[in-house]
Amino acid sequence: MSTPKLGLDYAMAQDQDDTLAAYRSQFHIPKDKDGNTLIYMTGNSLGLQPKSTKAHVNQELEDWAQLGVEGHFEAKTPWLDYHEALTQTMATVVGAKPIEVVVMNTLTANLHFMMASFYKPTKQRYKILIESDAFPSDKYAVESQLRHHGYNPKEGLILWQPEKGEELLNYNTLKKLLEKEGDTIALMLIGGVNYYTGQFLDLKRITTLGHSYGCVVGFDCAHGAGNVKLNLHDSGADFAAWCTYKYLNSGPGSLAGCFVHERHAYRKDLNRFAGWWSHNKQTRFNMRDEFDQLPGAEGWQLSNPPILSMAAIKASLNIFENVGMEALQKKSRQLTGYFEFLLKDLGEDTIRIITPENPEERGCQLSIQVKQADKTLHKKLTAAGVISDWREPDVIRCAPVPLYNSFTDIYHLVSRLKTILNA
Ligand SMILES: *Cc1c(COP(=O)(O)O)cnc(C)c1O
Repeated sequence: MSTPKLGLDYAMAQDQDDTLAAYRSQFHIPKDKDGNTLIYMTGNSLGLQPKSTKAHVNQELEDWAQLGVEGHFEAKTPWLDYHEALTQTMATVVGAKPIEVVVMNTLTANLHFMMASFYKPTKQRYKILIESDAFPSDKYAVESQLRHHGYNPKEGLILWQPEKGEELLNYNTLKKLLEKEGDTIALMLIGGVNYYTGQFLDLKRITTLGHSYGCVVGFDCAHGAGNVKLNLHDSGADFAAWCTYKYLNSGPGSLAGCFVHERHAYRKDLNRFAGWWSHNKQTRFNMRDEFDQLPGAEGWQLSNPPILSMAAIKASLNIFENVGMEALQKKSRQLTGYFEFLLKDLGEDTIRIITPENPEERGCQLSIQVKQADKTLHKKLTAAGVISDWREPDVIRCAPVPLYNSFTDIYHLVSRLKTILNA
């Protein structure tokens, strides 16, 4: 990318040169009540709907109408093994092998199922380490796991905190924590990309460190999947889970992804909760056989899955398959770099970017602290047609998504912010 410039013509020229620009037209971009297209910056919360989703969902409704139960075998994509049609692309998106990935359940549910297998507290080693600013649902989940096993969360939960006066996490602090308490920690469960700061942590480094102290290491990749290259297999992590309604654009409450490292694929000693969908596919419908566990991540499935939700995931993953994470990352870095450039021009007295400056340590999101601001700023931005996210006391989170946000989006966002701040 050439050195960014402040004017609108620069943004327009960037859009002209953008090889992914055409993808924007494959999405429904929300409009205000007068029909003006909004500047949508909350793909980190709910990704936009691909125009192809409707046809995919309709196909399943049609097959159900025409075929009834026979759709399990006769549907265009037979329902019986529908999830398999998602596995390869999902594995590529998160940097894993197909045997390591399955689409099932919802995110927090998957975290619990993973903990049922991977959180095995003993008298000596029972604590759980999370980052201090973990997403609330994750914190509630691990606290309830501690209680479930008879431990007091106040005592069993260890927080990895930023250094005093800082927001970002640092690996030396983690190392010190592990040196001190590592032999009592059973599990580390960390958000791969922090939802608040946008910091993309080094999964491999954390895993290697955790394993060297004998801890199991899992990641919540809700803000990573479809946003950054996670390389889950190479990270060595024991497990991971992520939702598909944020950067993976699969619709509100859609099913989640789950990763279990290949080295656990054939382990019989791991205790798993089971259902008929964790049973050997060849004999699943004999119904009277002894339980025969499927290997790999698929073996953690319980139920036959909701096909309408999977159809939406399939529509979205087709787009990811066409674009590829490499091209997506390239544009993402340009877009967010441009955003950062324009924000910095507002001056350090006005704003401070909390998110790391190094592109390797972030995805598309920037978390922006606006000095002397309160929630009225967010209201004004919304009234000006910018959909962003506000965190008390003074932080706006914006996620320019390379699939559907443009350089001109960014230009207009910052110029509207500037107008509001100068008023
Ligand atoms: C979005 C998000 C969740 C939401 O959990 P659901 O089970 O999908 O409702 C949980 N954890 C993190 C880190 C998230 O970003």
